[in-house]
Amino acid sequence: LVNTFAAYGKAVGQRVKGAIEAAGAGAIGTMVRSVTSLNDNTPHTGVMYYQDSIPKIPSVALGIQDAEFLSRLIDDGEEIVVNLDLSCQNHEKALSYNIIGEIRGSEFPEEIIVVGGHFDAWDKGQGAHDDGAGCMQAIEVLSIIKQLNLQPKRTIRCVLFTDEEQWQAGAKAYAARSDSLKENHIAAIESDRGVLTPRGFNVTADSTVIDRMQKWLPILRRTGIDWIREGGSGPDIRRIKDAHALIGYVPDNQRYFDYHHSANDTFDQVHAREMELGTAAMTILTWLVSEEGIE
Ligand SMILES: [Zn+2]
Repeated sequence: LVNTFAAYGKAVGQRVKGAIEAAGAGAIGTMVRSVTSLNDNTPHTGVMYYQDSIPKIPSVALGIQDAEFLSRLIDDGEEIVVNLDLSCQNHEKALSYNIIGEIRGSEFPEEIIVVGGHFDAWDKGQGAHDDGAGCMQAIEVLSIIKQLNLQPKRTIRCVLFTDEEQWQAGAKAYAARSDSLKENHIAAIESDRGVLTPRGFNVTADSTVIDRMQKWLPILRRTGIDWIREGGSGPDIRRIKDAHALIGYVPDNQRYFDYHHSANDTFDQVHAREMELGTAAMTILTWLVSEEGIE
């Protein structure tokens, strides 16, 4: 199956480092074809960096159709003049906070399971799939356990991280603080790949831990989860180094980059049923880790 995240990972450097590479070669500006799998004309934005020793040139993302149009003109040998009129700017850094809530464990309160997402977003859309709805899933895990009047053995902590999109300052601050408090995370689960139909969980852990988790698949299959396998977890939780398992929720990814970092990422594009199935999968997994432990 085509993994759109792999394609994104390989292509996105053109946006992230394009201005540095181009300026280094003498360019006065860069235009990058939006990193998306959707053939529309909506620009998809995202983080891009400058390097201090290199001129900071304007850098824009073009919708696919505009990019293809320019490409065809260049192929035809046309002389093209482009005027860039940009309103984007970098603001000074400002104070922000992670948002944290937890249900204390009854037997092993010092053993923590984090469920989280990030609440910052690119301003072209509403940040629905990336990652407002992921945050809602993390909140719902605690809410469902509370509504069912269940008392978890281990502490279940919802963390909504600030500033994932640029510097991961929220993730760094959380990891540094829990380090200094010598907290003990047994697992962390992140939803930051959109809220489409459930597929599986990526796990960064010892193979014995992954083997153990795979025994839970018959229960998780009720929500559409098909697999649990070794893989990258998520950009925020991966900094929680003491966690025995870092777990990324993986929904179907074929439509994710239709929305990602663009004006298309609005709440009317979130399908409640797909989102709820994912929430159920995350809740079941969180509960199993809480009651059974992970090793
Ligand atoms: Zn995200």
